[in-house]
Amino acid sequence: AASASAKTFVLYPSLGVGHLNPMVELAKHLLRRGHSAVLAVVDPPDGDPTSAAAVARLAEANPSIAFRLLPAPPSPDPAAHPIKRAHDTLRLANPVLGGFLRALPAPADALLLDMFCVDALDVAAELALPAYFFFASAASDFAIFLNMPYLYPGLPSFKDMGDTLVHSPGMRSVRAVDMPLSVQDKESDMTKTRMYQFKRIAEGRGVLVNSFDWLEPTALKALADGVCVPGRPTPRVFCIGPLVNDGKKSGDGETRHECLAWLDAQPERSVVFLCFGSIGAVSAAQLREIAYGLESSGHRFLWVVRSPPADPADVFQPRPEPDLDALLPEGFMERTRDRGMVLKMWAPQAEVLRHAATGAFVTHCGWNSALEAIMAGVPMICYPMYAEQALNKVFMVEEMKIAVPLEGYEKRMVKAEEIEAKLRLVMETGEGRKLRETLATARKMASDAIGDGGSSEVAFSEFLRDLENGGCNN
Ligand code: UDP
Repeated sequence: AASASAKTFVLYPSLGVGHLNPMVELAKHLLRRGHSAVLAVVDPPDGDPTSAAAVARLAEANPSIAFRLLPAPPSPDPAAHPIKRAHDTLRLANPVLGGFLRALPAPADALLLDMFCVDALDVAAELALPAYFFFASAASDFAIFLNMPYLYPGLPSFKDMGDTLVHSPGMRSVRAVDMPLSVQDKESDMTKTRMYQFKRIAEGRGVLVNSFDWLEPTALKALADGVCVPGRPTPRVFCIGPLVNDGKKSGDGETRHECLAWLDAQPERSVVFLCFGSIGAVSAAQLREIAYGLESSGHRFLWVVRSPPADPADVFQPRPEPDLDALLPEGFMERTRDRGMVLKMWAPQAEVLRHAATGAFVTHCGWNSALEAIMAGVPMICYPMYAEQALNKVFMVEEMKIAVPLEGYEKRMVKAEEIEAKLRLVMETGEGRKLRETLATARKMASDAIGDGGSSEVAFSEFLRDLENGGCNN
């Protein structure tokens, strides 16, 4: 009965909406199981990506979650790379986090840390508070990240290795070019920050991963066999997902998005949906290639278009609404009016993916997008762009077999013919049918995993038991 007792968790996301959203999903997961969740969010100094406004929006949409803004000290070096600056900001926020935890009316039972909040481990140790990590990407990425601080010192910079394969123990080999963007240049502050984070993440008592056992047997075996971290135990992994936006309307009175009405009028599985995460965007030339590819494929499409970034490598810059007339080929909107819809900036993605008319998804391979597509049973066409997306693509294509890649993504230029070919492959061929069958299986396995007695539910109970046993039942 002790394991059924309600716990209080403090969730501590890293900076940025991309880190906040998965933590909100985790909080909902905890609340549904009768626990309480407090989200302690560092209110970053000016210029950092998590705005107090985003927190306020999420707080309003999730009244049962307690949100607390922690004032952060000014960033030490405003000129530092955003990844290093975020890391330093979080480290400097340690005293504030400690003060916040000490002041809680009842002490928390555990701290659930974002993968980048590794220095909060020091606060947890000081307060003798159990600390677990929440890893919001694939277990396959996690297995590779854990090993990287040990593997990388013996290799050249990934950026100089190109197509050379990198072998992480127990894992499928990955081309250096597909390693995360932040670790491409070995000498950069960015990579050094990541190596420090990847090393310390092994010090947590365990890791909750937003995935499910069936999807990633190779990585889970490597992690269970303890081959990822040389010289110390691999942290215990609990796959408790998929935790994703369920695509149900939030019920706050907002009207249904116009694109859903448009989808209602399209035949089943006939529409290709193109959307590149919360910030992904492509160059003006790439936008035109996509337009030509869509046009010559003859397929129906729903396409989220954003303004090209001024610097193609810096997608984090805020951008204005796109001027579609200026950006898309002349007459494109006219010619495709009967079978295409272009949205500026944003689509209700989870709802779109679950709509019966959606037949394929051109994605940047953000992990939440991949999980949402799995939950909807929609095959994917990969255009990885930033962060760990190319790594996700490797596993989605080669291991999970739920996606096909677009050639040319490494150079940020996929030709119209390639887009047309992959759209046709997925929408028209036997290979596409096979993909859809795999997706149907993956969808079933995902919903089984989070259903009663499913692997993710069992893993969550094991996590609670681990917490109560002081992490000693390894
Ligand atoms: N999203 C959305 N509409 C958009 C773009 C993104 O609803 O137009 C949502 C998407 O459903 C997903 C999240 O934003 O839940 C993006 O997360 P992901 O991990 O895929 O990519 P990131 O934005 O972190 O790169």
